[in-house]
Amino acid sequence: MANYSRRTMLKTMCMGTVAALAIPSLPGNKDSEEKKHFITLSFDDGFKKSSIRTAEIYEKYNLSACINVIATAHLPGFELPNEFHDWPVGDFGLWNELKERGHEIMMHGYKHANKSEMPFEEARTLILKCIDYFSKNLKGFEPKQSIFNFPFNASTPQLEEWLPSQVKAFRSGGPAINPVPHKDQHKLTCSAFGPGNCEDHLDSEIEKLLAQPTGWLVYNTHGLDDEGWGPVSSVYLDNLLERLIAIKTVEIIPAGKALAGF
Ligand SMILES: [Zn+2]
Repeated sequence: MANYSRRTMLKTMCMGTVAALAIPSLPGNKDSEEKKHFITLSFDDGFKKSSIRTAEIYEKYNLSACINVIATAHLPGFELPNEFHDWPVGDFGLWNELKERGHEIMMHGYKHANKSEMPFEEARTLILKCIDYFSKNLKGFEPKQSIFNFPFNASTPQLEEWLPSQVKAFRSGGPAINPVPHKDQHKLTCSAFGPGNCEDHLDSEIEKLLAQPTGWLVYNTHGLDDEGWGPVSSVYLDNLLERLIAIKTVEIIPAGKALAGF
């Protein structure tokens, strides 16, 4: 080292950098680590204030939010499915604006019916009406690229068999950690916690994901702060995204985008 002129040393260091960049799989080369922990926070029910705030927080980190809305919840005469829906919801003016800003707006039912408690034909008709409403009211909506997020995460084997003929994939209840996004992945399962604040539960689900070598956590969130079933606070969401984007193996991604390449 003592014999190296400053110029020679700089040249050697530069060449070393080039060599490292040329070998992307070099052990310990952190920049080459692939994303292997996918996280989708799947926000249901389309509360107006929460959806606007969620989108703003995601935008702060240059991320796309995953917002699942009920086709008819903004229309007069909409019957609330239960008391956990008793807040103002957005309309398709807002959904089009958020989609335009890069967020994902997906289906959460025509009227938030529990499809495991009705005949197949009735459930099928409601889903087709939901697809039709989104097609007519959400700009750029493509059914075959969309995700149907079952209200109450309640599906039936018969619906699950039929639905991939209409949409890219559907979300129902089940294990929170899915295989990483891949071809022909039509069924996503998720966990959720409520009716109280779900932050501790979500933290523990994220810990479980990160303890695995790989996986895709789909977690069913709802409103922010005082809105919806099992909310998180907006401060928590902001801090969570900041914490997660610092982890090199994590990719925060909406469900449709995760499956878009397949
Ligand atoms: Zn819901």
